[in-house]
Amino acid sequence: MKDILKSEKLHGVCYEIRGPVMEAAYRMEEEGHRIFKLNIGNPAPFGFNAPDEIIQDVIHNLSRAQGYVESKGLFAARKAIMQECQTLGIEGVDIDDIYLGNGVSELISMATQALLNNGDELLLPMPNYPLWMAATNLTGAHPVLYHCDEQADWLPDIDDIKAKITPRTRGIVVINPNNPTGAVYPRALLEEIVELARVHDLVIFADEIYSKILYDDAEFTPMAKLAEDVLCLSFNGLSKSYRLAGFRSGWMIVSGAKHRARGFVEGMDILSSMRLCGNVPAMFAVQTALGGYQSIRDLVLPGGRLREQRDLACQMLNDIPGVSCVKPSGAIYLFPKLHLDRHRIDDDEHFVLEFLRQEKILLVQGSAFHWDAPDHLRIVFLPRVDDLSHAIGRLGEFLERYSAR
Ligand code: PLP
Repeated sequence: MKDILKSEKLHGVCYEIRGPVMEAAYRMEEEGHRIFKLNIGNPAPFGFNAPDEIIQDVIHNLSRAQGYVESKGLFAARKAIMQECQTLGIEGVDIDDIYLGNGVSELISMATQALLNNGDELLLPMPNYPLWMAATNLTGAHPVLYHCDEQADWLPDIDDIKAKITPRTRGIVVINPNNPTGAVYPRALLEEIVELARVHDLVIFADEIYSKILYDDAEFTPMAKLAEDVLCLSFNGLSKSYRLAGFRSGWMIVSGAKHRARGFVEGMDILSSMRLCGNVPAMFAVQTALGGYQSIRDLVLPGGRLREQRDLACQMLNDIPGVSCVKPSGAIYLFPKLHLDRHRIDDDEHFVLEFLRQEKILLVQGSAFHWDAPDHLRIVFLPRVDDLSHAIGRLGEFLERYSAR
């Protein structure tokens, strides 16, 4: 009998953050090892609890959340998102332009499936959050990577974007604040991207899930605010700013040139109706989250836990000989460079696996974010300073051993 194979559609589809390295970590856990996980941006296990009022509200509403709701999601939640758009200065968003989903992840798949044909091209940043790459590959379109420049605090290289636009380019993905680099993009740069989208008729996919996790003087500008005449899909949710990743609650807002996108929107409506609706209990969290006290600010301001952890981890990394790290202005990740003239690394996955085996600490290799050299790692700075300090100390020692092997 013939082997049962996976569909050819899955060729090139992989969510590398949960790939072979994470499987190796699970196997080690089954063998009884305790693994210190710095690989996933999952705030709750590190003691970042969601605001209590949100939890209480969801509990209170549980019995009302037993049935399906409209495919796009609970009206009150979408209304709260619409009001937030008004506060942010995003014009012309109606209730029907808002889709709730099981996290931003589901909506990324929905939007890319609804737009892209075989052979189309979608511009993605390099490095990128790998879900965008996987979702694009699943549609049969080609991801085309534009360069983000580490020397320029990881900002996208506009000339590289221009050079990569072809007649087949359908859209551009902008992740701001960025995962994995933590860069927060200035308004002028976003305006340049919008202008390119305007001229070349591109759909903008603005992944803004870290929009409220900002440090120092970083200012977040919503892409949709600048793109009133360009079709823009903005993605956000409860997973990070409200520490509710397990609720699987995210949203997508369609704005700008909607009158030219009726077909695409119909495609999204079809896909949205095919999953009936998102997780209803979590939708009851949205209104309270957006309207309540924004406790994330207490974590990112001076003296806040996230800010202290970022500062310590970034400083410790920069103190390791042959390592440099651009200080993130947003999000919860560090993406340090391991200078290959000092550290002998040919295969960053091998490096991360060996670090896991020897030190029981789990990181993610830069190539998982489609970075094109084996010289970066992603480190989540959610653990408390003592734990971060221990892990980064180990990394420094391990780097010397690994290079001397
Ligand atoms: N987009 C980015 C840039 C992310 O980092 C993540 C999760 O880490 C997601 C989307 C997915 O988030 P959600 O939990 O809403 O599916």
